[in-house]
Amino acid sequence: MPHIAFIGLGSNLEDPRSQLQRAFTELDGLPETRLVACSSLYRSAPMGYLDQPEFVNAVAKIETTLPPQALLQGLLNIEYRHGRERTFRNAPRTLDLDILLYGDTQLHEHGLTIPHPQMHLRPFVLQPLLEIAPDAAIPGIGRVVMALDKCRNQVLEMLADAA
Ligand code: AMP
Repeated sequence: MPHIAFIGLGSNLEDPRSQLQRAFTELDGLPETRLVACSSLYRSAPMGYLDQPEFVNAVAKIETTLPPQALLQGLLNIEYRHGRERTFRNAPRTLDLDILLYGDTQLHEHGLTIPHPQMHLRPFVLQPLLEIAPDAAIPGIGRVVMALDKCRNQVLEMLADAA
């Protein structure tokens, strides 16, 4: 049985919009995986480390039979192909891919936590997620629309439809 998962995408280096467009196609190319929907692209101010370019963010909905760890490995491979370097926390990046939700799964194991632990605090995740999944809920937290209501502390600008 395929699982529905939501992937968060972010980039603020080397033409972020095209990084995200390529990443959507690459998600569709993962084994046992089909891209079902893409949100619009959103421009957001950096959080945490402020002295860096603005981010472009989006969320993708996929259908997959990959188990969570194999899906994470697939995402890390895509990030690697985009030249992602890990320097310091909240550093600029060519591409960041996060597993936000994987069905109703809640798991916390080596190197992987689902739902993504900060997603309910991040408007740049919640807004695009809401666009493609208005009824979505975060296991252990509650409805996405309620989470977004509690953290409207970041201005997001919708840039374009992803399609
Ligand atoms: P970053 O790219 O800085 O967001 O960190 C990526 C690392 O976070 C990965 O190597 C994973 O081991 C870990 N991680 C933990 N939970 C998740 C998740 N839900 N999605 C993606 N990466 C995760």
